[in-house]
Amino acid sequence: QSLEDLDRENIFHPFTLPSEHMAHGPKIMVKGQGVRLTDNHGTVYLDGLAGLWCVNAGYGRQEIVDAIAKQAALLPYYHSFASMGTEPGVYTADTVRRMVPGNMARVLFGCSGSDANDTQVKLAWYYNNLKGRPQKKKIIARDRAYHGVTVASGSLTGLPTVHKAFDLPLPQVVRVRCPHFYREAEAGESEEAFADRLAAELEATIEAEGADTIAAFIAEPVMGAGGVIVPPKGYFEKVQKILKANDILFIADEVICGFGRLGTPFGSDYFGIVPDMISVAKGITSGYQPLSAVIVCEEVWSTILESSDYLGTFGHGYTYTNHPIACAAANANIELMEREKLFDNAATAGAHFHAALHSRLGDHPAVGEIRGVGLMGAVELVADRATKRSFEPAAGIAKKVQADALARGLILRPMMNDSLAFSPPLCLTTTEADEIVDILAASIEANMGAMKDAG
Ligand code: PLP
Repeated sequence: QSLEDLDRENIFHPFTLPSEHMAHGPKIMVKGQGVRLTDNHGTVYLDGLAGLWCVNAGYGRQEIVDAIAKQAALLPYYHSFASMGTEPGVYTADTVRRMVPGNMARVLFGCSGSDANDTQVKLAWYYNNLKGRPQKKKIIARDRAYHGVTVASGSLTGLPTVHKAFDLPLPQVVRVRCPHFYREAEAGESEEAFADRLAAELEATIEAEGADTIAAFIAEPVMGAGGVIVPPKGYFEKVQKILKANDILFIADEVICGFGRLGTPFGSDYFGIVPDMISVAKGITSGYQPLSAVIVCEEVWSTILESSDYLGTFGHGYTYTNHPIACAAANANIELMEREKLFDNAATAGAHFHAALHSRLGDHPAVGEIRGVGLMGAVELVADRATKRSFEPAAGIAKKVQADALARGLILRPMMNDSLAFSPPLCLTTTEADEIVDILAASIEANMGAMKDAG
C-alpha cells in the first residue's frame, strides 16, 4: 500500500475538500532544508509560505533540533499548575516578555494560536468580572480576520468557512469592517480619509453597542488568512485612541506578524501599536514545536493578582502549558533569529521581493493589487483592472495559478478574491525571492487563457 493510499484511508485533513483529496491528494513532505521541502518522491519545492506562515528560521536548523533533543533527554515534560515549573519555560517567558512592545507583566503559554485567542477572550471576561463590570464582555473583531478555529477564536475569525455549519460566531462578537483600501475604499477616497471613515465606523459601533458592554478589540497587525491585508496609514493610531477613550482592551494577534515577519520584531512595532494583550504562536518556535503564548499588561495582571486571594486560582491552563521541549525550541529559535539578524533580513529581502513583484507584475493586466510588508504579501488577480472586477469564484483562478506554481516547484497559497499569498522563511535570499517572482509570473502567464474564459 502506498503512503498516499494509507493517508487517504486514515487521515481527516482540515480545510480540505474530502472528494478532491480522495481524487488528487495527498502530497507528503519528508524533509526540509533552508527554504526548500522535498516530498516522498524526491521532488523539491520552494516553500513560499513557510509551512503555514510559521517556519521563520527555515528548515533544518540543527541548533533548534539539538535544543529539542537535549531537553527531551533531560526532562521531556513537566507541568506548570500550582506553582510548578521548568527551566526552559522561565527563560522563554523572560525573553518574550522583554521583546514584545508595551508594558507587559506576565506570559501564559499554550499550544496553538487558536488556544491563545481563546485564552484572550476568557482573560478579557475574567478581568471585567474582577473589575465588577460583568456586562463588559463583547469583543470587537474585523471582517476577514483570522484568529483560529476553536469555539471562541473561530467566532473572532471573520471568514465564512470557519462559521458555516458550526453555529458560529458566538453572540458576544461584534464585527467591524476589514481595513482593505483596495476593496473597501469609496471612489476617490484617500487612504487617510478611508482610515478616518473606519475609525468613525468603529466609534459608531461602540456607541450603538454601548462602551460599557465591550471588553476588547482584537486585530492582526497585517491580516493573514483573510488575504494579507495591510491597514491604511494612521488606522491603528486612530483605533487605539478610540479604544483608550472607551476603556476597551487592545488584543494584538501577533500569531503571524510576531517574530520578524514584517521586518520588525512584532507587527505592533511596525505600526506603533501599544497593545494591552498579545497572542503569539507560529514563529515563536518557527514551527519546530507547538507553542503559543498570551502576554498580558501590568493593569490586567495586577487586577488578577490583587483579586486572587478572595477569588481563588485562575481556573484556566493546559496540560502542556509551559511545555519544556517547546520552550527549549523557542529559546534556541529566538537566539538563532537574533544572531542571524533574520528580522532585518525580512525587511531587506522583503523590500527586494516587493520591488521585483512590482517591476515584473505591476502593470500586468490580470494583477489588481500587489500588497504586503516585509516577507508577507499577496498578489490579487482581477478580471478587469479598471473596475477591479473579480473573476467568478467558481472559476477558481487563484487555485489554478497555485497548482501551476506547485507543478513548477513553488508553494503559494490561494486565498479569497483570487489572491495568492506568500510568507517564505525569513532566511530567504534575494536570489530565492527572484525565483518566487519568476515562477509566479510564469504561472500567471500560463493561466491567461483560463482567465480570459472566466472573465
Ligand atoms: N491567529 C492568526 C493571526 C493566525 O494566522 C492563526 C493561524 O493561522 C491563528 C491565530 C490560529 O493559530 P493555530 O492554527 O495555531 O490555532
